[in-house]
Amino acid sequence: MERQTFKSAVLTRLLRYTQIYTTSDPSSKTIPSSPQQWDLLRLLRDEMTEMGLTEVELDERGFVMATLPANISQDIPVLGLLAHVDTSPDFNGKDVKPQVIEQYDGNDIVLQGSDDILSPKDFPNLLKLQQHTLVTTDGTSLLGADDKSGIAIILSAAEYLLNHSEIPHGKIRIGFTTDEEIGRGTEGFDVKKFGADVAYTLDGGPLGELQYENFNADAATVTFFGRSVHPGTAKGKMINAFERACEFQYRLPPHNTPATSEGREGFMLLHHIDGALDQCQLHYILRSFSREELAMYGEYLRQTMAEMQQIYGEKCGKVEINEQYRNMHEVVKNYPYLIEIAQQVMEQNGIIPNLEPIRGGTDGSNLSFMGLPTPNLFTGGENFHGRFEFISVDVMAQATQVVIGIAKAFTEYKF
Ligand SMILES: [Zn+2]
Repeated sequence: MERQTFKSAVLTRLLRYTQIYTTSDPSSKTIPSSPQQWDLLRLLRDEMTEMGLTEVELDERGFVMATLPANISQDIPVLGLLAHVDTSPDFNGKDVKPQVIEQYDGNDIVLQGSDDILSPKDFPNLLKLQQHTLVTTDGTSLLGADDKSGIAIILSAAEYLLNHSEIPHGKIRIGFTTDEEIGRGTEGFDVKKFGADVAYTLDGGPLGELQYENFNADAATVTFFGRSVHPGTAKGKMINAFERACEFQYRLPPHNTPATSEGREGFMLLHHIDGALDQCQLHYILRSFSREELAMYGEYLRQTMAEMQQIYGEKCGKVEINEQYRNMHEVVKNYPYLIEIAQQVMEQNGIIPNLEPIRGGTDGSNLSFMGLPTPNLFTGGENFHGRFEFISVDVMAQATQVVIGIAKAFTEYKF
């Protein structure tokens, strides 16, 4: 019974939100990066006000926050719930026309707008979703379940708690952010004002995902200085920065790359080269779950440069390494109840928790280091950022149950 109620609540919301164009724009300097994100932010502000949430506020940076007041008097940690309104600029996010498939039969799904086929042959996870209600794109856009499903789940859970005062819960703070997809989701986020002690993002994938470990990430730029001279008269004069760059990459100690690593293994990736014969840059990303391994990759770059400086002189090139983000586990491990509770609630709902670390980052990694420990929970979406994006409404309903269960479990936990 309950499952049906949640399904229709999350589906109605998901369809309403996905049809609002909210693609973020990495080339823009405005906040939010695209004006259309305001359309969804304002709608959410109004919806939360109408629903009966309190302290609803949309600020000038585009953060919309609200409170679900406690219905118990115990002093327990304030729980935050977070999702993002923008969709990825990697694929068209305008004029989204979702397709709803009831009782999915495990066969190919035709995306009506482009005649593309969403097939279990390419995406075998679909076979686990037989008999579910699925929402897909029509092939001309992404769906935007990333992360409008998170918003739909949070607000459906809040609405249910508002209408069911017999379920005990502490104070809950709800926050929706902008520009997550372009890495600016937490810029200017006021953790103090948000006022939660701990939080979860609802921005994950398949059923059971509970993520509290992510990569430590650095970016490195290796620059080589050459000397451009007309090729006809260059003998003994020209220094080709590209040749130096090739030599550098060739001299690096053997190391993991994305194509040779998985699970808990880190990697170093040369992902782009730019410049000219006169001066060029090699851009690397360094990723590891441990800070020691991350530092080792940095050392590889520095040592290799030192070797080349021995041969070509001190001024032949330089290495710069910049921090990108850090593994939230360093922070979250001090709040073991965040993981214990989520895990327990999933198990009570017949869901097997999947604790695999994220081979990337989330807004939660920044938030954790800003003082708000924030693991990530599943929403049911898959194939984000493209035309094959889809989501199971049944899994969204389960995520709603998990959120409600977590709110209740906070009142029962011995802090
Ligand atoms: Zn997302």
